[in-house]
Amino acid sequence: MRIAVDSSLCEAHGQCSVVDYDLFPLDDDGYSAVGPDREVPAGEEAAAELGVAACPARALRTLP
Ligand code: SF4
Repeated sequence: MRIAVDSSLCEAHGQCSVVDYDLFPLDDDGYSAVGPDREVPAGEEAAAELGVAACPARALRTLP
């Protein structure tokens, strides 16, 4: 599984990083630093799904 952020939608709410900061790091201004294609380590898929769902701006998504 991989995850991605649409930086044009991210509003720096930070809810993703509350779920798991290692999966959903933030930059110095509080915006997501996930990038366009981030690998999710094996066993962390559930946390990735929770983090994506936690984003109120719907800026995050999972990739196949
Ligand atoms: S929860 Fe959404 S809007 Fe907030 S920092 Fe994460 S990706 Fe950006």
